[in-house]
Amino acid sequence: MSEQTDKKFLFTLDEEFTFSCDSTLPCFNTCCRDINIFLTPYDVMRMRRSLWLPSDEFLDKFTIALVGDDGIPLVVLKMKEDKDKTCPFVGAQGCSIYQDRPWSCRMYPVFPVSAEEQEFLIEEKLACHGFRGKKTSTVRQWKKDQDLSKFDLMNDAYKKITLHDYFQNGNKIDPGMTKLVYNTCYDLDAFKRFIFSSRFFDIYDVDVQTIEAMRKDEEELLNFAYRWVEFSLFSEGNIKIKDKEMEKLMKARNPNLS
Ligand code: SF4
Ligand code: SF4
Repeated sequence: MSEQTDKKFLFTLDEEFTFSCDSTLPCFNTCCRDINIFLTPYDVMRMRRSLWLPSDEFLDKFTIALVGDDGIPLVVLKMKEDKDKTCPFVGAQGCSIYQDRPWSCRMYPVFPVSAEEQEFLIEEKLACHGFRGKKTSTVRQWKKDQDLSKFDLMNDAYKKITLHDYFQNGNKIDPGMTKLVYNTCYDLDAFKRFIFSSRFFDIYDVDVQTIEAMRKDEEELLNFAYRWVEFSLFSEGNIKIKDKEMEKLMKARNPNLS
């Protein structure tokens, strides 16, 4: 007698797989427990906004902060401390933050094999009834149905930092820089306070439209946060010190300059 086991398959973007999930299935909600969900800065922004929480409160209450081998901060969704380690957002009706659920939850059961997203792994778990139906989809269609385009766009901008050559060449950042990446990209309210209540815009040359856009739009703010991290870590990110401030800096370094 053949024993049934979970199976894994590799797919490309346009290959079809069979899967559908809905609340009528007997397994409904059982997968929202005891899982490692890594959150991107954009996930955190969407989730905390959905809950109307300041970023520091969301991070404190619902996440665990770790550090990768390269020094990049890793943020994981904290499961509840009940016996099933359930996700804090799962309720009888399903995900209570469904519109703002994180990238990993949208992607399930599809896992990209690499950051380039050329190939995808699908783990066909016996416990998941979603594989027993007839509805087929390609990974491309799945991503569209899960409304992932904005997530991909924002996460790609973050990947410019996390997959930078600096790290690919085996370098790591020090704890001070780890903190800077975390405070800037994940604790977005703190970053907003920092740039708007310091002399930041007196020192750095940021155009008025960008400043105004950042005041009103958190996605603009997050995009600028990424630029600030690129500038701080790699002297990139298209941020410039104002000429006057640069002169002062040069004079401070070399008092003999006239
Ligand atoms: S965030 Fe929502 S979809 Fe993701 S594990 Fe929690 S309840 Fe499930
Ligand atoms: S079908 Fe799979 S993904 Fe959907 S609720 Fe059941 S176990 Fe979770």
